[in-house]
Amino acid sequence: MNDFVIADPEKCIGCRTCEVACVMAHGNQSLESLTVETFSPRLKLVKTINISMPIQCRHCEDAPCARVCTEHAIQQSGSSVQVIAGKCVGCKACLMACPYGAIDLVIKRVTDGEHSTAVDAVKCDLCQSTQGEPACIKVCPTKALYLIDGAKIAERLQNKRKRAAGSAAGMPGSL
Ligand code: SF4
Ligand code: SF4
Repeated sequence: MNDFVIADPEKCIGCRTCEVACVMAHGNQSLESLTVETFSPRLKLVKTINISMPIQCRHCEDAPCARVCTEHAIQQSGSSVQVIAGKCVGCKACLMACPYGAIDLVIKRVTDGEHSTAVDAVKCDLCQSTQGEPACIKVCPTKALYLIDGAKIAERLQNKRKRAAGSAAGMPGSL
């Protein structure tokens, strides 16, 4: 199973430190040079009266975003789903397909040459280009974010099944 990052809404205080860390981890920008236009975190804080938590890609096993992409710009890679740089044409099919709203388009203004714009689909990549755990997890002051290891989910499920089988052994039907 794929790995993914998820937040605990009971712990999140809505400070947006994770969003800033995400942007810093994926750009070559200084904090001072960030603007509203260039601030595109790959996880997005949802804040209502009742809840605050960032939402990010679940790295779906049969990813709807990848299924609808005609350019094959989103692909399974190891234990995650990744966007292949340079393949996206900005058709928005993945945005419509994702049940979590976890993928977005970033329009980059390119002034040289004949083409004036370029676009990339962006979503959580589990900070695959950096060492160690994702940047959002490292900086969260309340430890509200967790990396879920897909292999461990499978292991836990198997343990649950073993426990269920063990408890069924003493039931009337097993006599
Ligand atoms: S850094 Fe932690 S507490 Fe702050 S918004 Fe992100 S998840 Fe919530
Ligand atoms: S972007 Fe959405 S549909 Fe695609 S893998 Fe992530 S959560 Fe699933």
